[in-house]
Amino acid sequence: MKIKRVSKIEDILDKIPTPCYVLEEELFEQNLKLLNYVREQSGAKILLALKGYSFYESFDLAKKYLDGCCCSGLYEARLANEEFKKEIHTYSPAFKDDVIDEIVKLSNHITFNSFSQYLRYKNRLKGEISPGIRVNPQLAFSEATIYNPCAINSRLGVTIQEFKEEFLEGIEGLHFHALCEQNAGALEAVLKSFEEKFGRYIPIMKWVNFGGGHHITRDDYDIDKLINIIKDFKDRYNNIEVYLEPGEAVGWQSGVLVASVVDIVHNGIDIAILDVSAEAHMPDTIIMPYRAEVRNAKKEGEKRYTIKLGGNTCLAGDFMGNYSFDKPLEIGDKVIFEDQMHYTIVKNTTFNGVRLPSLAILRKNGNFEVVKSFDYSDYKRRI
Ligand SMILES: *Cc1c(COP(=O)(O)O)cnc(C)c1O
Repeated sequence: MKIKRVSKIEDILDKIPTPCYVLEEELFEQNLKLLNYVREQSGAKILLALKGYSFYESFDLAKKYLDGCCCSGLYEARLANEEFKKEIHTYSPAFKDDVIDEIVKLSNHITFNSFSQYLRYKNRLKGEISPGIRVNPQLAFSEATIYNPCAINSRLGVTIQEFKEEFLEGIEGLHFHALCEQNAGALEAVLKSFEEKFGRYIPIMKWVNFGGGHHITRDDYDIDKLINIIKDFKDRYNNIEVYLEPGEAVGWQSGVLVASVVDIVHNGIDIAILDVSAEAHMPDTIIMPYRAEVRNAKKEGEKRYTIKLGGNTCLAGDFMGNYSFDKPLEIGDKVIFEDQMHYTIVKNTTFNGVRLPSLAILRKNGNFEVVKSFDYSDYKRRI
């Protein structure tokens, strides 16, 4: 099963007020269908990780295909409960006394980051809650340390050295999360490390959660290998329940951030100042860092006109990079940044008082709807 991505953004470009994130429902649904195929073929359940993608106006579609949400605390669990329903799995590096009862009420699974947290809250787990413990398989292939949960001195998950079998009573699941934008080969290696360390506890569990970071909807992702890994795992452990919780793969390549050129200045190179900010609206381009693709543009020098694209905050480093176009950009032109649905909307800030981009959906039937816009009050309320 392959995804064919045909974007229709350019057909409606005139209608898009900028700055604006636009989700293309058709592209989004293709991702969901592929994830659903993995569910059906492998027998695993798939949760949407709200940390990476929580544009809830699109959840009506998402909940047709996915099993629920993976939440990182009370607010995400509340959002899942209000907008998604289905299964709610909550994990946090540390729960606090004042939120645990509400989280218990909202969640189906709660995964604790340490035995200390589990023992602290064990008696407050009521009803149908299935508790789990996050473990650290101590193997990851993430190039950037900031995205590596198994880096030296990581605080995420219990290592085998710290694992206390005597505290396992009541624990029904094991959770690991060690991947970031990775293919099935990385999962295979991490799973092996997980089993070598924690394998003897698996038979007494009801579920194992393989975390997120599976780049399932990327074109070169080996879907068959993933399905086989899950099936083989389930075969070996008496059909145990397996969960995946991708965030990025759900929103991958499903929408854009549309900006306008506000001014063009010159300092050794032409520089366009846009009405979006790399710092505030595409933060991973700076943190990871990576270069966002721009529609109809190439790298510096590859097309006739090269221009540097910069943001609208006063941060000197608020740049998207150098891009080349067939013809010069002009004030008022629109610039389309590709693949801006995941880890953008959820990370936006109003730094420097810049306006948050609107949120819009290009529906399957061709209708373009701005579902939310922001104003001064959004800025004022949070400072
Ligand atoms: C971030 C995270 C995810 C989602 O990761 P993606 O890279 O967006 O797929 C899933 N589970 C946990 C515990 C996470 O921290």
